[in-house]
Amino acid sequence: MKYEPVIGMEVHVELSTKSKVFCGCSTNFHAPANSNVCPVCLGMPGVLPVINKRAVEMSVMVGLALNCTISRWSKMDRKNYFYPDLAKNYQISQYDLPLCHDGFIDIKANGTSKRIGITRAHLEEDTARNTHTIGGGDSGVDFNRCGVTLLEIVTEPDIRGAEEAFAYLTELKQLLRYLDVSDCNMEEGSLRAEANISIRPTGTESFGTKTEVKNVASFSGIQKAIEFEIARQAKLIDEGGKVVQETRGWDADRGITFSQRAKESAHDYRYFPDPDLVPIVVDEAWEGRIRESLPELPQARRARFESGYGLSAYDAGVLTAEKEMADYYEAVVKQGCAPKQAANWLSVELQALLTEHKQELTASKVTADRLAAMLKLIEDGTISGKIAKEVLLDMFESGKEPKAIVEEKNLVQISDTSAIESAAREVIAANPGPVAEFRSGKEKTFGFLVGQLMKATKGKANPQMANEVLRKVLKETE
Ligand SMILES: [Zn+2]
Repeated sequence: MKYEPVIGMEVHVELSTKSKVFCGCSTNFHAPANSNVCPVCLGMPGVLPVINKRAVEMSVMVGLALNCTISRWSKMDRKNYFYPDLAKNYQISQYDLPLCHDGFIDIKANGTSKRIGITRAHLEEDTARNTHTIGGGDSGVDFNRCGVTLLEIVTEPDIRGAEEAFAYLTELKQLLRYLDVSDCNMEEGSLRAEANISIRPTGTESFGTKTEVKNVASFSGIQKAIEFEIARQAKLIDEGGKVVQETRGWDADRGITFSQRAKESAHDYRYFPDPDLVPIVVDEAWEGRIRESLPELPQARRARFESGYGLSAYDAGVLTAEKEMADYYEAVVKQGCAPKQAANWLSVELQALLTEHKQELTASKVTADRLAAMLKLIEDGTISGKIAKEVLLDMFESGKEPKAIVEEKNLVQISDTSAIESAAREVIAANPGPVAEFRSGKEKTFGFLVGQLMKATKGKANPQMANEVLRKVLKETE
């Protein structure tokens, strides 16, 4: 590779505090436009903001999970700019003293582990939302979002390609979901990611001029936008041109980035400490209480699933991707089910049904208790794995207990040798052609005959016994 990409990420995440960060207004996303507003978040003169304690706690939780140092003393600053979506003409943010700083997160990309430095995570308020009618004409501003708690997480320029950027975002989102501090819904804008991208000749140290790509609606979109931007900058430099520092948008339909505006520098914002807010003091005791309240984090849980349940790295990764899935899995295993079997039924069979019906695991009628009860029916030989698929589908649709389904549909596995033997004799009599083929040495035909035997017993024959008995009867009748 002629050039090496150098990428830093900025992620804005809306924290799920019940009320906004500086006033008591609700943060409900689905409320009618401009219904969650008050003089504070509308920027009326003379009002006084008061910081939301829970917003500080949630930010510290994220900071600790990202291995950051938590500032004992920090403050809020005014970032001055005019936009129609910010009525008071400044955003309350943090400038030189962020609440959390100097952390890291470990990611896995291209098959190796890599540490990405976290420069800072600071608290600020979200802006209102501008809406424009398609075709022009009308524009509106919805202030419901104005003042919603926002945490901005900034990385060091440690990311070296689109795949690493994708891995970082995936890992970060997983962490935030485990901490239960945000729903991270990109469609509703509760997680927004921007990438600062530059390239430099491979082997050199100094940074090239960077562009900032924003307003991308998905992680895969960001990955594509970065790939495009790296190629665009390389071509520009190869042709003797210069990269201009600017903000670029992403056109998902055309698959290109495009220039939006020249990038402002920090000094353009005339930051100064907000005189209406007291400093934020997080003493050791408070930080300690927050640290103790942290749940088990994804990486620790993945490692525990591998060592504790003997799962492969892949299975552990799939099962811990979402906290709900990991909790569900552990609820099943705690009832004494074999870990590997539980992993397969959850991440393959049940997951397929959930995907097909676009259903969330937590909303499924197949509760952890029911899945565990079904797995026990397989383990004790009451039903075969094949029949269990039928039971699972029934449970998924009806929400009935697996035992009731098995009794109702008469699905109990046939483990009675004489019943299987008589079915085997019928199959042999009805299939003289395949039987002759098998006897002439075509072992493959045996599979077909087993299939016929399973069909004759409506899938209820114990599969292992079906194999053994069929072989025995074939020999006896030769
Ligand atoms: Zn308000």
